Amino acid sequence: MIGYFKDVFSGAWAITQGLLVTLRYLFKPSVTVHYPDEKLVPFEKFRGVLLFDPETCISCNLCVKACPSNCIALENATNPETKKKIAKVDWYSIDFGKCNFCRLCEESCPTKPKSVWHALDYELVFNKRDEMVRCWKAGFPIIGKYFDRKEKAFKDPEGQVPIHSVPPRHLG
Ligand code: SF4
Ligand code: SF4
Repeated sequence: MIGYFKDVFSGAWAITQGLLVTLRYLFKPSVTVHYPDEKLVPFEKFRGVLLFDPETCISCNLCVKACPSNCIALENATNPETKKKIAKVDWYSIDFGKCNFCRLCEESCPTKPKSVWHALDYELVFNKRDEMVRCWKAGFPIIGKYFDRKEKAFKDPEGQVPIHSVPPRHLG
């Protein structure tokens, strides 16, 4: 009989302890936000989506050489009179499907401010493989082409596994 009442008491005490914890947190400030109506701003060094500014880029190729994933390509613009290459880009492309967000391109860029840089934007959503390729070129659709270095031509991404067909990998 004594054992029965001990069990009832310890069960009630455990529930009371749980409720006290709940009560304590009830009056603490919330640590979550109502996304997407509210958004957290990442820390300063956060590596979000890569942006590029064709106005400041001097087409030095350093970011291409620094990229370990081989996902940047560019072409120098040409002076229409002399037909010589100039320190401006004609086009610049990044394949986010290969990018590992390492920041080496940004670190190697000599311009001030940087011509390629990680923004704080984390809302990077791709529905198709094509959308992972961005190309900055006047009068050119920014999304969906990549530059084939061997054939020296812009192409639609093909022969690659669409990200949505890859089964999710469960860790642990
Ligand atoms: S972040 Fe790294 S992998 Fe991505 S484009 Fe820059 S250098 Fe290449
Ligand atoms: S390193 Fe900077 S300036 Fe040089 S090509 Fe890349 S983005 Fe342009």
